[in-house]
Amino acid sequence: MILGKPLEEDMNLRPIHYQWAYDLYNQAVANTWFPHEIALGEDLEDFKKMSEDEKHAVSFLMSFFNPAELIVNRSLALGVYPYLKAPEAHLYLAKQMWEEANHCQAFEYVLETFPLDKDKAFNVHLETPSIKAKEAFIAKYLGRMTENLDIESAAGKQDLVRNLVAFNIVMEGIWFYSGFMVALSFRQKQQLKNFASMVDWVVRDESLHLKFGLNLILTILEENPEIATTEFAEEIKQIVIEGVQLENAYNKDLFPRGISGINADYVNQYVRYIADRRLEELGFEPHFHDANPAQWMATETDTLELVNFFEAQNTKYEVDNHAH
Ligand code: FE
Ligand code: MN
Repeated sequence: MILGKPLEEDMNLRPIHYQWAYDLYNQAVANTWFPHEIALGEDLEDFKKMSEDEKHAVSFLMSFFNPAELIVNRSLALGVYPYLKAPEAHLYLAKQMWEEANHCQAFEYVLETFPLDKDKAFNVHLETPSIKAKEAFIAKYLGRMTENLDIESAAGKQDLVRNLVAFNIVMEGIWFYSGFMVALSFRQKQQLKNFASMVDWVVRDESLHLKFGLNLILTILEENPEIATTEFAEEIKQIVIEGVQLENAYNKDLFPRGISGINADYVNQYVRYIADRRLEELGFEPHFHDANPAQWMATETDTLELVNFFEAQNTKYEVDNHAH
């Protein structure tokens, strides 16, 4: 069982029970990168030439992402780590938490480099209703994890799954991907190329965070079939749909008028497209049935390579096992 209070024998890494968690840890370590190795000088020149609406979009994205990275870490530290027994899962979470700290620093570096009013940028998430609503949604599910939760009970296990769906599937798997798509769309117009390289690194990390979260949710449901009722499945689907609605409101504030090549409708179609992919990954039928308006995203980010990685890595570990 991956959930529960750790016993003394759970403090041994071997034998590894959840090979996927250990594989993801090793892949995450191999992906290690440092924001300050990416020079943003050219991007600063691009930024200075941008329209006010373009500058607003970049600044607004950073204003959401900067605190969001720290919120993910709170969700992991208070809502996931304490309830898992498997040391290989703890190894992965320790690396993910460093990555979220690193992303926070990466966005901090962008905020320092571009001529933005930092005090204003840091206050945006405290003052903008659409961002406050997104943060309240995450806080609601995390709140339950810190109030005398019994992880051995069905209710406690369901709360943990709800929290994972909210911050991992919705926040990291939908909201972040929507933001990455917008950030990378500047490269499509030959702007902010080095910033886009930084975002590529973040996407590489986030795709593993998503893979870990999905594997964890599916493992919990497989090991605790009594919690996977029809009502609970419907509730999970509704959490994803509510996440899409919150992102729609946010994207209207991100693009009050739209900029060259992209506007709120375009981003919201991408949000519905990516939400359907997340629903499918959780075992649901698609809900929105929208085409991907940003087909270029598939080639911009090496998502496909990452999907294939999992199989490749499994094969490698099989070889390793034969040697022992
Ligand atoms: Fe992150
Ligand atoms: Mn993440």
